[in-house]
Amino acid sequence: MAEFDLLITDGNLPDGKVGDIGIVKDRIAAIGDLSGSTAARVIDAAGDLVSPPFVDPHFHMDATLSYGTPRINASGTLLEGIALWGELKEIATVDQMVERALAYCDWAVSMGLLAIRSHVDTCDDSLKGVEAMLQVRETVKPYLDLQLVAFPQDGFLRDPTAKANTLRALDMGVDVVGGIPHFERTMEDGRASVRELCEIAAERGLLVDMHCDETDDPLSRHVETLAYEAQRLGLQGRVNGSHLTSMHSMDNYYVSKLLPLMAEAGLSAVPNPLINIVIQGRHDSFPKRRGLTRVREMQAHGITVGWGQDCVRDPWYPLGTADMLDVAFMGLHVAQMTSPAEMRLCFEMATTESAKILHLEGYGLYEGARASLVILDAGDAIEAIRLRPARLAVISKGRVVSETPRADARLDLPGRPAGVRRRHHAN
Ligand SMILES: [Zn+2]
Repeated sequence: MAEFDLLITDGNLPDGKVGDIGIVKDRIAAIGDLSGSTAARVIDAAGDLVSPPFVDPHFHMDATLSYGTPRINASGTLLEGIALWGELKEIATVDQMVERALAYCDWAVSMGLLAIRSHVDTCDDSLKGVEAMLQVRETVKPYLDLQLVAFPQDGFLRDPTAKANTLRALDMGVDVVGGIPHFERTMEDGRASVRELCEIAAERGLLVDMHCDETDDPLSRHVETLAYEAQRLGLQGRVNGSHLTSMHSMDNYYVSKLLPLMAEAGLSAVPNPLINIVIQGRHDSFPKRRGLTRVREMQAHGITVGWGQDCVRDPWYPLGTADMLDVAFMGLHVAQMTSPAEMRLCFEMATTESAKILHLEGYGLYEGARASLVILDAGDAIEAIRLRPARLAVISKGRVVSETPRADARLDLPGRPAGVRRRHHAN
């Protein structure tokens, strides 16, 4: 009998060490120097990065892969996207939503993305999206963690039935409480929605994740209320603010007061750089704002920040591949996180930092952890962001669920090597 079901040898681990990982059933049984051990299957990872899987803390699975149905977003704005989604959800069936979501999950698995937090619209009286996503969560459970957020897209107070429907969705088993305070009719309603939704989460023992201040309006300050409510209700470490784009445009003096309040309340944050750079600043001429929230400044205050993908081929965004390295790549540029430590942190924001936000159980590379990991055709985390390379093997709960060959180019040049891999290490 082999000691391990699966043995990964000589991988470059995220902490910079080289090591072997021995897997028994769905858990990491040993990690370190395991030379001389036996295994039913061995994967040689010499020179390749072995990482815990990618985590996407912000997505819209009910809308994904619907681009062009029934039309495209001509203005490229958030508001036209919301209007277009309203048309789409009228005509989409549960089966179509399930089929599109499962196709997206296939893409995700092939990219080593094994945990996704998805918002699901709870404003439609039929709750078709909720029904579809609960079905998808169950189907993908053996290989992908799908966490669902009850998201009253048309406004918890603004839409007449959103409140009742959001509570129904939670009763049906949706995991997290969402909201959209900047879309309520008034600042006062926005505040009231945050208060009420946080109370619902506290009563039910649920996490909170709101679309918060996804606007270029510097006076959109619902994040302040979110921090206040997290503090008041004892929800520290359980509340996330998604987008927070208004922070980009806020007065610096106000932000100097806000950041410590967010830290004290244990708020986490999820910017969505691909979407923020595309959707924000649409009302500007020049200079045009970037619209990404203050990532480094939050991190300097000890606030956990993860990168979110948000959209792939839907009413808000025409591109996307389920590759969290695309997201980290864009985020790194827009937030100007170019020191070696910051670049490594950008990789962690697509892995371990986001895993904290989702409260994932057994996540990471340690003995006893869940045997879920990804082997990349890159030497280290920084190179992974630079190359966004093939996921050579993706392992979920001890099972190899996806494999991709290296994408080496063959060269035919006089006096030059026959192939090229584009690896490059500093001496
Ligand atoms: Zn979103």
